[in-house]
Amino acid sequence: TKRKVALLFGGASVEHAVSIQSARSVFRAIDPERYTVLPVAIARDGTWLSPEASWALLRGAAVPAAGPAGGPKTDPPASPGFPPGPPWRAVGSPHLNAADVAFPLLHGPMGEDGTVQGYLELLGIPYVGSGVLASAVGMDKATMKRLFALEGLPQVRYLVFERRAVQADPDAVARTVEEAFPYPVFVKPANSGSSLGISRADDRSTLVRALREAARYDATVLVEEGLAVRELEVAVLGNEPPEASVVGEVVPRRAFYDYEAKYTAGGAELLVPAPIDGALAEEIRALALRAYRAIGARDLARVDFFLDKGAGRLYVNEINTMPGFTDRSMYPRLWAASGLAYPALIDRLVEEALRRAGERN
Ligand code: ADP
Ligand code: MG
Ligand code: MG
Repeated sequence: TKRKVALLFGGASVEHAVSIQSARSVFRAIDPERYTVLPVAIARDGTWLSPEASWALLRGAAVPAAGPAGGPKTDPPASPGFPPGPPWRAVGSPHLNAADVAFPLLHGPMGEDGTVQGYLELLGIPYVGSGVLASAVGMDKATMKRLFALEGLPQVRYLVFERRAVQADPDAVARTVEEAFPYPVFVKPANSGSSLGISRADDRSTLVRALREAARYDATVLVEEGLAVRELEVAVLGNEPPEASVVGEVVPRRAFYDYEAKYTAGGAELLVPAPIDGALAEEIRALALRAYRAIGARDLARVDFFLDKGAGRLYVNEINTMPGFTDRSMYPRLWAASGLAYPALIDRLVEEALRRAGERN
């Protein structure tokens, strides 16, 4: 009998549009003899769309700014004794309740960060990808770096600051940075993706501006030593044991791999495989598997590296627990180059989640 696969896509993050592209790619490639697709779209404002609106979006309708709710239209009764909360929105979908398994193709906050994973846990629906904790850790760069450090993975030098400190005295924060490592530096909100809120600073005044900017996005701000780097990426797949793909390289056409470079056509070139020697590729694959285990990732993740162009040293930059998943994205391309075609990759991931559900029963 056919398995019903809920594809979750869209989402309340800046990666909304990319997520829709990922879902359309999966829908085109998934084996219709084996799986029935049930689309579950989430609008930019966090509202879960009806099955009809989800189908329209999956099949190519224009992306709505905020869709009609699929759930009840009335506000829930106020709970006595609780202060009024944030505006209430419809959560959930009839398609989700009918599914055998969910594939959350969501990126960034409210999708890749453990929130949706927690919801699926509560519903008892098996899902593709990392669980609540690993998803949350992967989204929080400060926590991710601490776990990588415990695992002994090589990382660029960095400092962590609280928003409060940045707001109270950005010059003092900048002086602390200057004592730790030289310019240029990269300033990042801890919870980010798609390079949003990330900037490079070359002196005191750009650093102060970058700190203030990053503090708008998150209560924790990271500052890293900025290196002239090549950017190498590896796809990790599966469990017990996970496997690592060939290595790929991203060559941004801009100063760094910023939001524009990621999401405009021709903003970056993806080289698969990366033009590097075999020993380096082996080292990168081994580090990727350690990074995956360090955060307790499951099913899939893309691990990103920096190769210092000067000293030739290798550093782990970050892990992404739900990487871009269109058929042109790095993750699927790395597996295709490793001998696993896109439809077979989708199959592996869905079967892995179903197998997990079977074990639990
Ligand atoms: P995101 O999770 O948003 O992708 P990253 O930490 O990967 O954030 O940073 C985005 C991009 O910024 C990187 O792909 C790279 O181009 C550049 N970058 C980030 N940190 C550094 C650094 N320490 N040195 C050089 N470039 C960096
Ligand atoms: Mg990231
Ligand atoms: Mg990145």
